[in-house]
This record gives sequence, structure tokens and C-alpha cells, in this order.
Amino acid sequence: MGEEEQQVGWAFETLAIHAGQEPDPATGAVVPPISLATTFAQSEVGVHQGYEYSRSGNPTRTAVETQIAALEQARHGLAFASGLAAEDNVLRLLRQGQRILLGNDAYGGTFRLISKVWSPLGFPWSAVDLGDLDSLRDNWPDDTGMVWLETPTNPLLTCFDIEAVATIARERGALVVVDNTFATPYLQQPITLGADIVVHSATKYLGGHSDVVGGFLAVDDDELAGRLRFTQNAAGAVPSPFDCYLVLRGAKTLGVRMDRHCENARAIVDLLTGHEAVERVLYPQLPDHPGHAAAAKQMRDYGGMVSFTVQGGEAAARRIAAATTLFTLAESLGAVESLIEHPGAMTHASAAGSPLEVPANLLRLSVGIEHSSDLVADLAQALSAV
Ligand SMILES: *Cc1c(COP(=O)(O)O)cnc(C)c1O
Repeated sequence: MGEEEQQVGWAFETLAIHAGQEPDPATGAVVPPISLATTFAQSEVGVHQGYEYSRSGNPTRTAVETQIAALEQARHGLAFASGLAAEDNVLRLLRQGQRILLGNDAYGGTFRLISKVWSPLGFPWSAVDLGDLDSLRDNWPDDTGMVWLETPTNPLLTCFDIEAVATIARERGALVVVDNTFATPYLQQPITLGADIVVHSATKYLGGHSDVVGGFLAVDDDELAGRLRFTQNAAGAVPSPFDCYLVLRGAKTLGVRMDRHCENARAIVDLLTGHEAVERVLYPQLPDHPGHAAAAKQMRDYGGMVSFTVQGGEAAARRIAAATTLFTLAESLGAVESLIEHPGAMTHASAAGSPLEVPANLLRLSVGIEHSSDLVADLAQALSAV
């Protein structure tokens, strides 16, 4: 395809603005139209311009699928109605009895989907430490069909060596899935490190403005992409054209947003480090952080998420979360505005009592792109309020 040839060599920022976004051939519009049509005219039975019915394929969806796939350096992209819908589509690749190996810190909804929806249907799972490669090799369950890896993890921001885990899994015939929601393709491209499938909650950094729920899969292998696309259509968890447009629009500025998220996160880490109200700061750039070496090896920068535990237990954590004004107390992450949350009672409440339970004195920040001095001042006053 001419379009693909043209894209070879384009840098990330250029792909974000141009991949899948040629001026509309009918009108010259420089922004892809939001195609609301549910059905498309055929000149003869089976003869059409590439689209038949909007669940199976939609021009606005094609635009965002092309764009994000290019950013992930993958040949295929598939958009979904939510991150969890995308994940569910991936899990449908397994045959009954095949095991899912899940890192022992993961997004609560992923844990719930695997342990409460798929496990009762006959798909065993176990939580493993993906940082201990020797143990992973030695204790590899023979029925493993898929390794599910988040790096950095949610909410502890632990980082794992994607290339090393992918090598071990591939030698043993398992698929490697990387949830790249926290890093985004700007900071890390798992397909280039050996992952089979990249998963996104597009709700977060890809969309970037807290105004759209969406999911995404990036895949390089044609056969695997074909199977995923079959289920995307057959099970039908597709996004609306308007939602596709919002993700496409948001992702155009991903590079510049991520640079500022990272810069602001560093200012917050500087405030927290050594602060008397803080017990421990979790940020992949810190030399003593679990997986710092893996992050340094595979990431361009360390991201906009910062977690920390506080002195004074859960009560103090809850007081700080309620005392910020600029950091809004809310779930979710990855948008222009800064958020604070208490994972134990909010995003990760479903992991209570499991191997994925998080500390009660943990707070998680999604550092936005406001001015760093305002963010630092707000968090400083909240910490002094305890
Ligand atoms: C939010 C999130 C998801 C789920 O995505 P939704 O769009 O909310 O369905 C999956 N993984 C990670 C890391 C997330 O943060």
C-alpha cells in the first residue's frame, strides 16, 4: 500500500498527526470525518468501497486504528468500546484449560475480568512475580497459554523487562500480552521488544482528556490480527465513531503531553522525596525502584504516574486525598488534569484479600500538564494538613 510506504521513516510525532489521516478524498477536509452511517451502499451484491456494516468496519475507526498501530510500530490496530472490552477480546484467543499468568500487581479490572469472569469458565490463572526470571523459568506451569504483563504496573509502578519475559514465554509457546496503558507507545513500544499483543485503555493517555472511554489492541502478526478482528466483529464490542474521533484527536498530541507529564512528575517526586509525611515514593526513575533497570533499558522516560505511601496509615492517606484542591480526587488517569486517588478503596478495591491487594496507606497520582509550581504547591499544602 502506498500509504504504508510513505509512513516508513516518519517519526512518532509525525505519525501521530498523519498516519491514517490523509485529507478526505471527497472534500479535502484535513480532519477525518466522523462517519455515522451504519451501512454502506454496494453497487452490486458484494461490491463496495471497503465498508459494509459499521460494526464490521467504519472509516473513523479505520483512521484511529491506523494511527495508533503506527505509533506502536505494529501492522494492525483494533479499537474497542473500552480497555476491558479489548482485554476480553484477547482472552477469547485461549482454549479452555489454558492458563493465564498475571503479574502480581495489575489493574484491578484486569484482575477481576480474569479471576471472576474467565476463571469460572475453565481458564486457570496464577499471579507470578515477573521480576524473578529464574523463578518464572523454574516454576513455569505447563498449561500456560498467555502471560499478561503490565509495566509500569498499576498502582505500584513496578517495571519488568518485556524482552526477557517475552523470550521465556515464546520458548514455551505462550502468547505475551503487554498492557501499555501507563507507558504509552511514546515511552515504550512492546511489539519491538517481542510482545505479541499490546493492550490499551485508550480512556487514559491516548485519549488524554478524560472525555472518552475506549480500548485498543496493537498486533504485528497477520494471523493473530485476523483472529482478533474476527472476534471484534463477532462479539461486537466496538467503539462509536465519535469515540474513535476523540481518541484520534487526543493521540495527535501524545508526544508533547507525555514530555510534560514526565517533567511534572519529576517535580512532584522531588517534593515527596524526603518529605516527613511520606514513607516511600514509587517512581520508576528512582534508582532503588523495583524494576528501575528494566525501565531505564526499555523506556524513553519514566511516565506521569507517581505513587507513594504515607506515614500515619490509611487515615492519613484518606486525609491527604481529601485535602488537595488542584489534584482532583477521582479514579482514572492519563489526562491533562491532575488526579489523586486511594487505590485500596477505589481502583483496586476488587483486589482486597488477593495476592494483588495494595497497601492501605498508598496514594496514586496522575500528574497532569498544569504548571508544575501550582501542582507542587497544592500537594505540599495537602501533605502539611495531616
Ligand atoms: C483503566 C485501565 C484498564 C481498563 O480500561 P477501561 O477503558 O477502563 O475499560 C486496563 N488497564 C489499565 C492499566 C488501566 O489503567
